[in-house]
Amino acid sequence: MTRLSAAGSHVGKVRANNQDSGYAGEHLFVVADGMGGHAGGDVASALAIQSIAHIDQPYESVDDAIEALRSALLEANHELAETVFEHPELAGMGTTVSGIVRVGDQLALAHIGDSRIYRWREGTLTQVTKDHTFVQRLVDSGRITADEAAVHPRRSVLMRVLGDVDLTPEIDVEVLTTDVGDRWLLCSDGLSGYVTETRMGEILTEQPDAERAIQALIDESLDNGAPDNVTAVVVGIDRSPSSSAGGPVMVGSAARPLSYSASTSKRSVRLPSLLLHPLSAVTAPADEHFEPESEEFLHALIAEYERNKVRRRIVWLVGVLLIASLIIGLLVAGYQWTQSRYFVGVSNGQVAIFQGVQQNIGPFPLSTVYFESDIDIDDLSPFSRERVESTINASDLPEALSIIDRLENELD
Ligand code: CA
Repeated sequence: MTRLSAAGSHVGKVRANNQDSGYAGEHLFVVADGMGGHAGGDVASALAIQSIAHIDQPYESVDDAIEALRSALLEANHELAETVFEHPELAGMGTTVSGIVRVGDQLALAHIGDSRIYRWREGTLTQVTKDHTFVQRLVDSGRITADEAAVHPRRSVLMRVLGDVDLTPEIDVEVLTTDVGDRWLLCSDGLSGYVTETRMGEILTEQPDAERAIQALIDESLDNGAPDNVTAVVVGIDRSPSSSAGGPVMVGSAARPLSYSASTSKRSVRLPSLLLHPLSAVTAPADEHFEPESEEFLHALIAEYERNKVRRRIVWLVGVLLIASLIIGLLVAGYQWTQSRYFVGVSNGQVAIFQGVQQNIGPFPLSTVYFESDIDIDDLSPFSRERVESTINASDLPEALSIIDRLENELD
């Protein structure tokens, strides 16, 4: 039987713990990507999912579902702040949340952070959420392209998350319509940052089964190195009013019992895994960091970006100039070498000495007539004539002159 909806999560190849969480229920589907501190990220995403999960129920209208989602996210935000208050060691933790509630052929969507929701319709994947990231701001203001954003060194800087920073975070909400046959993909940036949109769309097209599709999506990220935690939720739309995943499924850190006071035991788990894989400590991506959404901060980041851009341009220009002067130097040296060579050939029917080499560079000959003798080529013996016509090399001018002498002697 083809499974309509499912959720999956993988720690990835580099990180020591999974800070992502995912939920696939009957009406509600969510991903959350936690961040912050040595024990905060996994707590934040798990807390958020567990505090939102209770709204997984049928709704009269999509507006009711929007309201339920929005207040559940604000509640989760409040709970995160409370938890930090009780456990100050978790200060700075936060989480993205992207979720949908299905109400028949409509979806209520709520989103904050850089996890993503995509619609797959008839083989085409379309992103419906907008990343709340610094680089997305740069894209929106026309400073960089989407391709540049994908590889930007500050692409993980988030402008908005749930956490202990803002009491009333700005949450994007939206009502979407959906058709039978649509599939919705919710994922953390551990998937969208390492598998192209085209490839994600292809996988959904190839795998009608939600669980297999998720496995294939996660495998693709693992094949690409999976430096980050990878989480995906797939929601299929059929004729039934809900998209049940066959009982509520929690994945990632939400699937484990919460233990946010046990930071010491977490550390003892992490240390050996880092020692076992010393490289992973070096290649691990920089932790996602959250920066409050202040204009001052944005301007500082933009200024830094502009400075880097100027610096990159200068480095590029100096590099180009160096390479160009190297090429010109080699060409000059090569040309000078050719001009130290001579050969004997035919010019205007006379035997002549040429300075340079026989080859041409495109339309430009690398030789000039140095001296035209009064020996007529037709006066030579057939053997000598053929040799002169096919040119005779001379390493220097005296040798060329002695070849002319020999040919002259032949005539006497
Ligand atoms: Ca992530």
